Amino acid sequence: MTVQTAACLAVGSELLGGRRLDSNSLKITQALARTGVRVTEKRIVGDQEEQIAAAIRSLLETVDLLVVTGGLGPTQDDVTRQGVARALARDLEFDAGLMAGIKHRYEELGLPMPQMCSRMAQRLPGARMLHNSRGTAPGMLIETGGRLLAVLPGVPGEMEAMLETYLVPELERRNPGRIRSSRTLLLSGVVESRVEARIQPLYERFGRENITILAAPGVVRLIMMAAGSNEDAARRLDEMERAFRAVLGGDVAGTGGGTLAGLILERFRGKNQTLATAESCTGGLVGKLITDVPGSSDVYAGGVISYSNAVKEALVDVPATVLESYGAVSAETARAMAEGVRRRLGTDWGLGITGIAGPGGGTNDKPVGLVHWAVAGPQGTRNAHRVFPGGRSMIRTWSANLSLDLLRRMLDAEAAT
Ligand code: ATP
Repeated sequence: MTVQTAACLAVGSELLGGRRLDSNSLKITQALARTGVRVTEKRIVGDQEEQIAAAIRSLLETVDLLVVTGGLGPTQDDVTRQGVARALARDLEFDAGLMAGIKHRYEELGLPMPQMCSRMAQRLPGARMLHNSRGTAPGMLIETGGRLLAVLPGVPGEMEAMLETYLVPELERRNPGRIRSSRTLLLSGVVESRVEARIQPLYERFGRENITILAAPGVVRLIMMAAGSNEDAARRLDEMERAFRAVLGGDVAGTGGGTLAGLILERFRGKNQTLATAESCTGGLVGKLITDVPGSSDVYAGGVISYSNAVKEALVDVPATVLESYGAVSAETARAMAEGVRRRLGTDWGLGITGIAGPGGGTNDKPVGLVHWAVAGPQGTRNAHRVFPGGRSMIRTWSANLSLDLLRRMLDAEAAT
């Protein structure tokens, strides 16, 4: 039986409160998409057996696959197993083999097994039990009335491991002609609406369902998907990538699931050049994004969080006259920071950012969100500025990503000459 449509059911009263988001269904949707399965509905219910059972019954009527997560643990409020049994009108049975496995797991962890863990050793007749490699609660895979029901733990890491180990291979086996490969194009220094407008004709050519745009401040990810065998899909993705690159040109920073900082470090590879940063309003965020990438030490010498004017003068040589004449948030100061840190740390490239992240500190001339950044390189210094929308965190993320974008574009320009 091929599986075309799916629903996600998240169980957990905490997911209905204001504190925790159902992130499991997002991961499940992404994993299922690779196997050609489209999620058509998502639902959240609290930890009540009858509600869980009712949701399972109704969702199983409309989709080929239902993925339930959460409520498999040992505590009294973990009642998903009972909800599944009630929905399918089957009785749970104690399974001595499962019990032994759970006991063994506790022994491995060097912990005494609480008595209530025996709840997790209940098996639904006809279910294939799924081993939990990262926890104790087993999952279940059940075929019922021509539909597939997967029951996975709620803890995101446990759920993901079980999803990839059992459910994805099962769907790949059932959906050989529907497997979809994907490739991500990462664009920087662009906004989603502009990208959308430019790629409009390509939606028609390649099919809207094969193109997804995910936007974050300063970066846009364009995910292309293609069905078929590995070779056919790779050929199709090559064709799509060529078409997108032709339209989007220099806004494409690269391909792959990595970050903008990762793509920048790739450009540095083999160049034998180094980078330093001087950050004010971003407080080290650019340094963090760079050092998030393994191997960044080959390129990144370090940075100065030059937050006060005194540190801007003392550690990255911003002249007092510049600070007095133009102010700490100005193109001149950003340029002086980039050039100063480059000189002081003896690197090939220097990056400087200064701005007003808010919520206070704005004026008519220099509103909250105004950020100047500059990059100094072997062939000179370039700078830019914007007034970013949003709160402090968003302004800082925009600033960090757009300063990295400027560096990326300068590296590209240098490579092209
Ligand atoms: P355990 O065996 O650890 O008790 P469980 O299957 O019973 O696992 P829950 O008790 O429902 O899972 O949830 C465990 C943790 O996972 C909680 O912190 C919960 O908030 C989180 N969690 C549960 N469901 C989701 C979800 N859909 N998205 C994100 N986090 C979730």
